[in-house]
Amino acid sequence: MWDPSQVVDFIVSAGENRYSTLGVLASIKFLYLTPEKLCNALKEENVLNVLKNMLGKLYERKQLLRLVVDEAQCATTGGVDFRKDYGNLSLFRNCFPSVPVVALSGTACDQTRRDIMATLHLRNPFVSVRPCIRENLKISLTPKKSNEDAFKLMTVSLKDDFPNQCGIIYCIKKADCEKLSTFLVKEGYSATFYHDVRFVFHLSMPKSIESYYQECGRAGHDGQLAFCIMFYKFSDYFDQQSLIYYDPLGNKVAEIQTAELVNLKKVVTFCENRTVCRNVGISSFLDEIPRPCDVNSLAICDISESQDRYDEVDVIQHVRDVRDTIMTNFSTRFTTSFLVNIFLAKQLDKKRALYTGDVKDCAMYGKGADWNADNAYRFIQKMILDNVLEECLVCEPPRPAYAIIRIGSNWPLEKYSFLMVQAESTEQSNRPKNNFRAE
Ligand SMILES: [Zn+2]
Repeated sequence: MWDPSQVVDFIVSAGENRYSTLGVLASIKFLYLTPEKLCNALKEENVLNVLKNMLGKLYERKQLLRLVVDEAQCATTGGVDFRKDYGNLSLFRNCFPSVPVVALSGTACDQTRRDIMATLHLRNPFVSVRPCIRENLKISLTPKKSNEDAFKLMTVSLKDDFPNQCGIIYCIKKADCEKLSTFLVKEGYSATFYHDVRFVFHLSMPKSIESYYQECGRAGHDGQLAFCIMFYKFSDYFDQQSLIYYDPLGNKVAEIQTAELVNLKKVVTFCENRTVCRNVGISSFLDEIPRPCDVNSLAICDISESQDRYDEVDVIQHVRDVRDTIMTNFSTRFTTSFLVNIFLAKQLDKKRALYTGDVKDCAMYGKGADWNADNAYRFIQKMILDNVLEECLVCEPPRPAYAIIRIGSNWPLEKYSFLMVQAESTEQSNRPKNNFRAE
C-alpha cells in the first residue's frame, strides 16, 4: 500500500541527486514542490537543471499526469496572499502544454477565480464552486476601545465561556502575538496543539474577507457549534493600511498595494454594517448566493440576533457642514475623533484648541448635539468609506501613524442617507451580548 507520508519524507530527505535516476522519479506518485522551486527549475536559462530535465523526460513518456496547485489564490495579485512564483506557474503550462492543471482554493470570489484561470493559463476549465458558508459558525463583532480593552474582554470570555477549550487568536502584528502570549501565560493559560478548535478570536480586523473566513473556518471542523469573535474598532483600519504601505525596501508593487487596500475596505464595510446578517455579508463578498444564518440556530450571528432598530435619515446638510468646516479651516489637522467632538459640541482638548483656533465658529459645530457618540462616529466613518471624506496617513516617527481627514472625491450633491440607530437600542454593552457558552 502506498503511504503518502513516506513519499513526502523521501522528497524532503533525498534532495535533487536522488531523482537524477529516472526510475526513482518515475516511481514517485506525488511530487511536492514549492512554486519557487518549480519555477526556478523551469526558467528558460536553466537548461541543465536536473529537475527540469527529469520532468521533461517524464512528459515525453506521458508519465507527467497532472499539476495540482493548492492555495491557488496566491497566484492573483488581487489576492491577499499573493506570491510572485505562484504568478509564474504558467511556466509549467508553457513547458508541458498537454498536462492538465487543477487549481484549488478555499475561498475565492469571482474575480479571484478569473485571475487564477488567467494567471495559470487554464484553457476552458471546468469550474466547481462549493458554498463556503458553514452553518455551525457563530459570527459576532464586539466593539473595543483599545487592544488592552480587547485583551481584558477576551480573558473574561476565555474564563467564563471557553474553560478548558481550544481556540485560535489572530492579531495584526507578530509583536501583538508575542505580547498576547506572554499575557496569557501570566494569566495561567498554556499554548498547545489543537485539533478541534472551538473558538477563533480576532483581536483586530483581518486584511481581507477571504482570509477572515479562512481563519474562522479553522473552528468547528467537528460540525458542532463554534464561535468566531472579532474585536473591532474603526481605527484598526488605519493600522492595517499603514502595514500595506510600509515598504522600507521599496519592493512593493503599487498595483498590489491598491488591491490590498480594496480588500481591506471590504473588511471595514463588513464590520461597519449593522443591518445585514454576517453570513449574507460574507457570502456576497465572496460572490456566493447569500445564505442568512438560521435565526433558530445557536449559530445565529450577532446582527441577526440584535434587537437594534434603524431609521434611514437624510444627512446631506450635515455632510455640507462637515465639508465647509474642513474647507474653511484648511491648515487644521482634522482626525475622525476631532470631527466627532466638534459635531457633538463635546469639550475639546485644550491643547488642540490652541492650534485650531475657535472651532465654535465652524459650520458643523454642535449640529449633532442631540446625536449619541456611536451614531456620530459611524456617520464620519461612513463618509470615509464612501470616499466623501478621505483619510490621509501621517507618519511622523516615533509617533504612531495617524490619519487626517480631507475632502474626498465622491461628493454627494443631492442626498446622503445614513442608518441611525434608534435611541432606545444604542446602549452599548462592553461585554459581548451573545450567549457564548458552548453547549
Ligand atoms: Zn445572521
